[in-house]
Amino acid sequence: MKYYSLNKRSQDVDFREAAIRGQASDKGLYFPASIPVLPASFFEKIGEYSKEAIALQVIAPYTGDTIPAKALERIVGETVNFEFPLVRVTDDIFSLELFHGPTLAFKDVGARFMSRCLGYFFKEKKNKAVVLVATSGDTGGAVADGFYGVEGIDVIILYPSGKVSAVQEKQLTTLGKNIHALEIEGSFDDCQRMVKQAFMDEELNKALFLTSANSINVARWLPQQFYYFFAWKQWQKENSTLSGALPPLVVSTPSGNFGNLCAGLLAYRSGLPIDHFIAACNANDAVTQYFKNGKYQPQPARATLSNAMDVGDPSNFVRMLELFDSEYGALKNLISSYSVSDEETRETIREVYTKFNYLPDPHGAVAYASLVRYFKEYADAQGASGMKGKEERRPQGIFLETAHPIKFYDVVEPVTGKPVDMPAAIRDIIHKEKVSLRMSNAFGELKEYLLRK
Ligand SMILES: *Cc1c(COP(=O)(O)O)cnc(C)c1O
Repeated sequence: MKYYSLNKRSQDVDFREAAIRGQASDKGLYFPASIPVLPASFFEKIGEYSKEAIALQVIAPYTGDTIPAKALERIVGETVNFEFPLVRVTDDIFSLELFHGPTLAFKDVGARFMSRCLGYFFKEKKNKAVVLVATSGDTGGAVADGFYGVEGIDVIILYPSGKVSAVQEKQLTTLGKNIHALEIEGSFDDCQRMVKQAFMDEELNKALFLTSANSINVARWLPQQFYYFFAWKQWQKENSTLSGALPPLVVSTPSGNFGNLCAGLLAYRSGLPIDHFIAACNANDAVTQYFKNGKYQPQPARATLSNAMDVGDPSNFVRMLELFDSEYGALKNLISSYSVSDEETRETIREVYTKFNYLPDPHGAVAYASLVRYFKEYADAQGASGMKGKEERRPQGIFLETAHPIKFYDVVEPVTGKPVDMPAAIRDIIHKEKVSLRMSNAFGELKEYLLRK
């Protein structure tokens, strides 16, 4: 499989190069030259396949000959070695829980796959690769855990001192081994500026092999398809007692940079029978507006309760267009988008908790609220066209629960009035000792540190 740059001004590369570089030299995002279509027999037999077998079939065409079958099998096995349960919340709404990985968010999947691919690619290299990341919280934790103990790779994480949550800080600073946390006296923007400067510094790039664990990396993006297939397998089982055809299926993805939704769309293009997608957004609604009026207008990011989705100019929007050759009509037929306010997010958490005894996190709540709005529009449209009472089956919906509610207990607890049950992974980490190196926000200090590595 070849990957081309969406800016179309640099050379095509294979999976290895795309994963190592992260971004093309013309600053474009990499995109697969063709989208593999899975045979009908795959979907007929999916109920019998393990998650490892499904993931392997999905990803193998994308990695091509850059990773041999045995190694890929190991990488995939380590990527999906936790649960992805589909939990029934109402008669027609299910939650796909993506928070059973080590850092309790779906980003674990992409981070684990990417780290192991890079580990494989750097295995034979004499010099270690150095992964340099700036984090405002969540991404750093998933990357740190994903790369923990991966040979041939050192990870250096810059985070703003005093500006990440206590749990997030522990996730970054208690691992040790090849994971190094730099506590920067400054803001997240300072951290990001220092990392950018390091990537442009000639002397540093001669001395070290520097790479990023950016979310646009294809090695983080592509494996996110896996759980759409896992969801469909479980959903089909849930409906196995129904006679006749399956009801239409709608999947709602809480979106920030839209990597997660674009992974679902890729799965759809490979044949996964999902009937409709929902791009669920908070007040950051550049994409919702696009679906309304066909114009894409980036905005400055606005702070909301679902803060991992506070993105004003989503990096994967260009991939969404490319998936459908920028055909507005095709996109609009398949995808609906809604913008959900903080007030509605709180209201949704309260309602789902009290009515259905299920506790969504703020991101999942945005996806749930969007799904309910879509169902209402769908029912209204059917009523208007005189379809009511006809054979047509009511659609069912799956919303992606992208983080464990404990990560956002400060939002969730005041709404429900009850403490969130603490998962074991958090209980263990809270007592571990923090190890970080404090550093000013001057680039010179970071450079000196890196040259000593
Ligand atoms: C990153 C993140 C999102 C947004 O995912 P994208 O792929 O950037 O759209 C949603 N929810 C949670 C909890 C996240 O951490």
